[in-house]
Parts: sequence; C-alpha cells; structure tokens
Amino acid sequence: MGLRLYNSLTRTKEELRPMSQPWVSLYTCGPTVYNYQHVGNYRTYVFEDVLVRSLKLHGYSPNRVMNITDVGHLTSQGDEGEDKMEVGAAREGKTAWDVAKFYTEAFLDDCKALHLLPADVLCKATDHIPEQIALVQKLEAKGFVYKTSDGLYFDTAKLPDYGKLMSKEHLEGLKSGARVEANPEKRHLTDFALWKFSPKGSTRQMEWDSPWGKGFPGWHIECSAMAMRFLGETLDIHCGGIDHVPVHHTNEIAQSEGATGKPFAKIWMHAEFLLMNNAKMAKSSGGFVKLSDLKDKGFSPLDYKYHCLTAHYRKQLDFTWESLEGSKTARRRLKDTAQALTGETPKPGCAEFSKKFKDALADDLNAPSALAVVWDALKSDLPGGAKKTFLQEAEAVFALDLFTVETASDVPPNVLDLVGQRSQAKAKKDFAEADRIRKQIEDLGYLVKDGKDGAKAVKK
Ligand code: AMP
Ligand code: ZN
Repeated sequence: MGLRLYNSLTRTKEELRPMSQPWVSLYTCGPTVYNYQHVGNYRTYVFEDVLVRSLKLHGYSPNRVMNITDVGHLTSQGDEGEDKMEVGAAREGKTAWDVAKFYTEAFLDDCKALHLLPADVLCKATDHIPEQIALVQKLEAKGFVYKTSDGLYFDTAKLPDYGKLMSKEHLEGLKSGARVEANPEKRHLTDFALWKFSPKGSTRQMEWDSPWGKGFPGWHIECSAMAMRFLGETLDIHCGGIDHVPVHHTNEIAQSEGATGKPFAKIWMHAEFLLMNNAKMAKSSGGFVKLSDLKDKGFSPLDYKYHCLTAHYRKQLDFTWESLEGSKTARRRLKDTAQALTGETPKPGCAEFSKKFKDALADDLNAPSALAVVWDALKSDLPGGAKKTFLQEAEAVFALDLFTVETASDVPPNVLDLVGQRSQAKAKKDFAEADRIRKQIEDLGYLVKDGKDGAKAVKK
C-alpha cells in the first residue's frame, strides 16, 4: 500500500486513502462508439490499465466501471452539432444501434490485443436512461436547471465552485467567450445540456420519453449517473484523457456535486496526449492511426503498449513509426530474455529490484522508471531463477506477453523482418517491392500467408 497519485483537482501528488480499504472505486470514461478508437485513445486506456494493475500490486482491490458512450456525444464541444452516433450511422448506411454494436466489439477486441484488463462493470449509456432522467430531476428540484427551446441546461452560475478542475485563467477564458457558442438562449457560455429535445418534426434513431418531452441525454450526465449507480456518490478515483478536464469532467463534477452536495471523486487523474505531427492525435483532424494499422505494418499492439510505457502518463508522447520501431526491438529483447529463462525454476532473491519496481509505480505510476528497473535487473548478476521471479512480477503490471511462446517462433527473425517490410511496402501500395520481398522470403524456404490478423510466414 502507500501509493501517491497526482490529483488534477488539487494539482499535487496525494497519498491514496480509499474510503473502504482495500477497495478502490474507480470510474474511467470509455469510448464513443461511432468509429474505431485510435492509438491516442489507447494511450489513455494503457495508463488506466497500469493504474489498475499497480493498485493490485500494492494490495488494493480496484472496482472499476467503464462506460460506453453510445448516445448524446455531439460533434461540437458545446451543445450544438450532430450526435456522433447519427453521423456514424449516416456514414455507414447502418442504424445507430448497429454502429454502436460494431465499434464496441472492435474496441473490446483491441483491448484484448493490448492485454488490458476488462472493467468490472462495462455499461452503455443507452441502458441507463432512467437513472440519467432521475438525476436531471434531482438537479431540477434543487434549482440548477432551466429550459430553452432545444433542451434542459445546467446553470453553471448557481454552483459557486464551478470549474474548479481548471486553472483560473482557463475558466475565465471559457466564461468570456473563448469558446463561441451558437445558442443565444443559454444564460452563460459555460452552461451545458442535460437533456436535449428531439428536433421538431423529425424522429431520431435514439430517443426516449421523459418528463420534458421526447429526447436524449447530454453526454456528461451519463457518466455522473452511471458512476453513482455502480459506485456510490463519491468515488476514490476518476480517470480520463486530459482533454476531458475543461468540459466533460468539469461538467460531471458540477452535475454530481450539485445533486448530492458531496465531492464526486477524491482523486482525478488525466493522461496527457499522444501527439502526431506535433498535434493531438484526433479523429476530427484526419491524422490518426488505428491498432489494425500497426498490425498491417508488422507491429504487435504490444509494441505500442511498450512505447506508451516509455513515457510518464502526464507527459506528452510523440507517435512516430521510427520510435515505434525502437519499442518493437526493445520488447523483442525483453521477450527473448524471458524465453531464455523458460527452463528456470522461479526463486526468491530479487527483493531489491522488486522494491524499486514497486516504489517507482507508487510514485504516481512512474512506468518509465519501473521499466528501467526491469532492464537493470536483467543486466544484473542475479541468478536465473530470481530474474524469472522478478520478470513475472513486472509482467503482472505491464502485461507485454513476455512469457508466451509465439506460434511463429519457428520462423527465424530475418524472415519475420522481411514479412514486416513486405507489409509496409503493401501499405504504401508499392506492390512491386512487396512481390520482390515475397520472393526473397520464398527463397529462404517460407511462404507468406495474408490473413485477418496481418501477414504470417509458414515453412514451405
Ligand atoms: P472518445 O472516444 O473521444 O470519447 O475518447 C476516449 C478516451 O481517449 C478519452 O479518455 C479521451 O480523453 C482519450 N483521448 C482522446 N484523444 C487522445 C490522445 N490523442 N491522446 C491520449 N488520449 C486521448
Ligand atoms: Zn465520462
């Protein structure tokens, strides 16, 4: 026990003091399932997985809830624009329900490929509409709600500490109109939708009856309602990506604390951005990489996970193919070392390294330091059995699939490299080069088979 975690709310590292030791209630904002998640999103989920596994390493029992946003997340950060689910449905010629189902499954497959532990509760916003309506009613009874022609809004001026998750300057910027709103009926720029009415004269694919008329919930209310439904009115920890600080989490706090009068979460943790070409990786900006793109280029999703572990979660991390190549090599070396220890019987004797590893994670999840301890241990003169014990401990937190013997292990590394190069050539549509590499692989006695999970080499 004894974890110190950086709390975005107090802007300091704080000792974790769960309300019902050893249980730690944890809410992590999940994906909006209108499209594939990109590797930027997965940086946040990898951070949360390291958090869950570090809690376990330190003797806690995390109880984690993750939501699936399948309604109400609009294309603009304000409350205008279309529902992302309806945009996905129009794009794909499917129903919003089918789009949600497809991308939820794709997300869960990706999480498996990254060896991320499943949440204890995975809940869909559309399965918990009554709780969201009840929460809005509670806020209404307390005088926080007003009605406009397009929905019900939360009056942020009624909550004296609205915006406390942000710096003063940031909040002042929002209040004075840095974010331009199109809705003149809002009383304040920071007010946000709790319930939106279905547009007059048209039927939405996803809409529900409510005391205020047919419509759908705002995005933020789902997290407040489901977090409280499954974990109670105050959480030990609430997590998400750093982009959630000024709007989504700020508004979750406003609604929840407005309704209960109690602190919503004791510790707020946020993962910094994954950058590509010096900008936040984002679906809206065009430049984004999916997990399947990594596989197409001959990388394992776990090479990307290793890459995430090389930076502290509160520092921005660049995504480049060259740096990913470096992480791939490093993970391969780690895996080769683990495989070389297969015949050893795990033995004690690695206490010093175990302690350093644990201490690094206890210090606000310092994964790069913990990873450095792993390399130090492997380079040390510890006996093989002790090294194996330590590596198993590290694997319980990093889950890099170090000990499984890969099915393709009878294929030598030079052939594996060629298979990767061929996939890269194909991705660049350089088919002449791809054919040339295929011949080279065949000359070495192997055949390339293209499958759903990428290309594989098999002995002729
Ligand atoms: P979304 O599907 O847009 O609701 O995002 C899912 C999660 O990914 C949220 O916790 C976001 O804060 C996080 N996220 C989005 N973009 C990035 C990025 N470039 N780097 C790290 N996390 C991100
Ligand atoms: Zn959320």
